[in-house]
Order: sequence, then structure tokens, then C-alpha cells
Amino acid sequence: MERTLSIVKPDGVSKRLIGEVIKRFEGSGLKVIGLKMIWIDKKEAEGFYAVHRGKPFFESLTVFMSSGPSVVMVLEGDGVISKTRELMGATDPKKAAEGTLRRQFAADIEHNIVHGSDAPETAAFEIRYFFNALEMFEY
Ligand code: UDP
Ligand code: MG
Repeated sequence: MERTLSIVKPDGVSKRLIGEVIKRFEGSGLKVIGLKMIWIDKKEAEGFYAVHRGKPFFESLTVFMSSGPSVVMVLEGDGVISKTRELMGATDPKKAAEGTLRRQFAADIEHNIVHGSDAPETAAFEIRYFFNALEMFEY
């Protein structure tokens, strides 16, 4: 069964959107198999977003991601990667489809409240980055 990593980013947590994000994922038939609140530090944010190192937004993004607690979760389901990306909407909330999480709640392209892996390989890397085998559950 396909898995993905999602994060309610620090802006989403401070806007009290943890429940809203989970409600949309679960409401779409996806299963939360791992879940925790963590405060990602600067170095951890840099490692997580290593593919974006060198881009103009990298420094600002990693400062933002370490600015407060996040909720990280592992989701499982058929087509879970594309389903979560669809529910999130485009990176830039101005370009995100009506009714998506980012369109509805994000402030701007950086502060876009939620993360979701974009492919099976990145999902595997991202899940391992935050979760060990004992923190994910079959039910
Ligand atoms: N980001 C940004 N400026 C940009 C592009 C991305 O601040 O021009 C931030 C934004 O928070 C985004 C994250 O960097 O969610 C990762 O970028 P990516 O292109 O992977 O977007 P995502 O997969 O999150 O939609
Ligand atoms: Mg991405």
C-alpha cells in the first residue's frame, strides 16, 4: 500500500489547522498510520529540504520550518501521494484550486500550511527522516 509523509507546517499549527488537515485526509479515505508533534530545528529543516538547497527561498524556508512546532504524519492508501497533493493544492495558494487547503488557508507561497511528498522515492526518504518502524502502525 502506498505511503506518504505530510506535515502541518508551523503556520498551520499556529492557525489551529491540525484537525482540519487530518479531517480532510481521513475524509478522503486515507489512513493515518503515524503521527506526532515535533519542533524541527534549522539543521533538520535543511536536511529535509536538501533538494532545494541553493534556491533563493532555501534560507527563508528553513527558518520558517524551524520557527515553531509542526505535526508530522504518515498516511497510507491507494494513490495517497496524488490524493494528498490534490487536497493540498498548488504550492502557491494564488494558483491553488478552489476549496483546497492551501487556497483556503495559506498566506503565501512559502507559508502554505501543509507539506506532502511528491513521489514514492521522496516519500520513502521523508518518512524515514521522521519516523522509525515502531512509530507506524498497521490497523
Ligand atoms: N517555497 C517557497 N518559494 C517558492 C517555492 C517553494 O517558499 O518559490 C517553499 C514552500 O513552503 C514549499 C516548499 O518551499 O511548500 C517546498 O517547495 P516545493 O516546490 O517542493 O513545493 P511543494 O511540494 O511543497 O508544493
Ligand atoms: Mg515538494
